[in-house]
Amino acid sequence: VKTRNRALELLYEFQHAAATPLHALRQIAEHMAIEMRAGLRRGGKSNLLMLPTYVENLPDGDEEGLFYALDLGGTNFRVLRCLLGGKDGRVLKQEFEEVSIPKALMLGTSAELFDFIAERLVDFVSREGEGFKTRNGMQQTVREMGLTFSFPVKQQSVKSGAIIQWSKGFDIADGVGADVVALLQSAINRQRGPKIEVAVLVNDTVGTLAGGRYWNEDVMVGMILGTGTNACYVEHDLPSHVQSGSGEMIINMEWGGFWSSHLPRTFADEQLDKESLNPGQAGYEKMIGGMYLGEIVRRVLLRMEKEASLFGGPVPSKLKEPFSLITPEIAKMHADESKNLRVVAKVLRDVFGVQKTDLAARRIVHDVCDIVIMRSARLAAAGIVGIFKKIGGEAFDSTDSRTLTNLHWDSQEPQQLDTKRIVVAVDGGLYEHCTQYRVYMRAAVNELLSEAGAKRLQIVLSKDGSGIGASILAARHSQHR
Ligand code: ADP
Ligand code: MG
Repeated sequence: VKTRNRALELLYEFQHAAATPLHALRQIAEHMAIEMRAGLRRGGKSNLLMLPTYVENLPDGDEEGLFYALDLGGTNFRVLRCLLGGKDGRVLKQEFEEVSIPKALMLGTSAELFDFIAERLVDFVSREGEGFKTRNGMQQTVREMGLTFSFPVKQQSVKSGAIIQWSKGFDIADGVGADVVALLQSAINRQRGPKIEVAVLVNDTVGTLAGGRYWNEDVMVGMILGTGTNACYVEHDLPSHVQSGSGEMIINMEWGGFWSSHLPRTFADEQLDKESLNPGQAGYEKMIGGMYLGEIVRRVLLRMEKEASLFGGPVPSKLKEPFSLITPEIAKMHADESKNLRVVAKVLRDVFGVQKTDLAARRIVHDVCDIVIMRSARLAAAGIVGIFKKIGGEAFDSTDSRTLTNLHWDSQEPQQLDTKRIVVAVDGGLYEHCTQYRVYMRAAVNELLSEAGAKRLQIVLSKDGSGIGASILAARHSQHR
């Protein structure tokens, strides 16, 4: 009983430290908007990089032809081909393959990483089937591709940019400062396979925004909730040092680097940060991204086991191993609705080798998962509202109401198409697979906004949008047609 009480004490302590009450979320949203403004100014001090993307022409639905994309995210990369059919066809056909990146390559040299990627890409392109013939039957000899790269890049143009830094478990020293397109293009050329050209370099958020825009012209924000988190948006109020022919440009916020004293930091966040590859950086991302949520839960459970014998001791060795508990597993436990928390018991057994747990302990584990998932969703919601505040003052004229085919509207999302709405397209495994996450996020957005504001702001899942969007942008910027 004594140890159980101590475990509950630790739970309440953690719950308190991780709490996201409305007043804190308001401050965070406000702070986000302030940092956005500061980051846009030349030489402005901000923890948001607010990177110009040189994407000034967004898809309008007319794009057509066969295009490729390579999406280099966190743990996996995807290659895909997309046959675009223009306004009446949209995405006629698509095909993709996912390859996981060996751990060693995430910490090696850029040549090793890009040779590995290029080999898979070339192999995929050379297996292009008959079904991907373009409408007029003419196949160009060059395959054009959009490269989705989910790390901060200082772009010099829409198809070149220098890697600023790594995150999410990657650390390839010789890559920093190098042009990521040049790295990939030379690796492709070394393969001596089919002719493949990188036509655009985009951040995954930008791909997501563009992918959403292909179907719906009210999409103004692209957001990732996957291994990490980030967002971009269409800026109309550009500073004088950012030139755009169209008067607008997508800005990649790199919001993972956001920090605010209002963020609820716990002992687990501090430990995790200190032992990470990038201590002191990506603070917001480390509270939100799927790479970290399971790890935060593990650290809390480890402390509960050490200080309160949550599982009855001795401390299982797996529980001591960093990143042994992954986010899909905590999402599974969180979704457990059985009376005895059977799924929680099973995950604890499978992951940590804890054979027997009592219901009280399982309830505590379930609560820890809930706290961590809810905090992530609510902090992400505050970020979205920050963007909304920054751009919401603009009048956007939109009367379009075409039916949406690839965007997945949650039943809880306001459905009616009133004018001046702002649509946020979201891609990423965390948002896609964790239903309760979406519910928490929407609820927090509603808390933060007036009823009218909440109606204007719509959040939609743009499944695989980051990759498809890159192929659409490759079409938009094609040099060969
Ligand atoms: P990336 O961000 O690397 O491009 P994804 O968008 O595919 O990759 O997201 C993968 C991340 O999504 C994983 O790191 C994991 O944290 C999270 N994820 C995957 N499946 C689930 C799930 N069932 N529930 C919650 N999170 C999940
Ligand atoms: Mg991704």
